[in-house]
Amino acid sequence: MAVFPIPFIPKFDYHYGGIRFGASRDGGNRRHAGCDLIAPVGTPVRAIEWGLVLQGPKPFYHGTYSIVVQYNGYIVRYCEVDKKVADEVYEGANVQAGQTIAWVGKMNNSSMLHLEMYKGNEGGHYTQTNGKKKYNNVEAKNFKRRPDLLDPTPYLDKWRLWTDFSSWVGDLFE
Ligand SMILES: [Zn+2]
Repeated sequence: MAVFPIPFIPKFDYHYGGIRFGASRDGGNRRHAGCDLIAPVGTPVRAIEWGLVLQGPKPFYHGTYSIVVQYNGYIVRYCEVDKKVADEVYEGANVQAGQTIAWVGKMNNSSMLHLEMYKGNEGGHYTQTNGKKKYNNVEAKNFKRRPDLLDPTPYLDKWRLWTDFSSWVGDLFE
């Protein structure tokens, strides 16, 4: 069982709120690569399950940062988080299910966790930024997205709020 990446289900449905997976960006040159979980600045961001930090905070968008965690069979890129992440989060560190790893960061007029997923375990560059270069044998202009990009929607639907887990764990030890 895996944990939903923030402590509540966003009021703005991530299926339709914000910008959903696959929506067109930049006049059709780019696909929206993830799901937006609209949440206040400072909302804790949680590890889905046991994982390995592949990338510490890296500048992402409008003053926000991204971190990357390898889980069992998939990679999650947590984006639009604050520059200050949990002390335990650095390249090569392990994280546990439900652990707070970062906090939602502040953008101009909004704040959210932009969550991207990649199948498998290939780290590296998550966006094709060089218009001339192939990445994973995919021609540039392929929406600048990697072919192993996953739609997070069905996963988000399946993952459970951490509060559900704590009550479950509580039962176990009573
Ligand atoms: Zn987004």
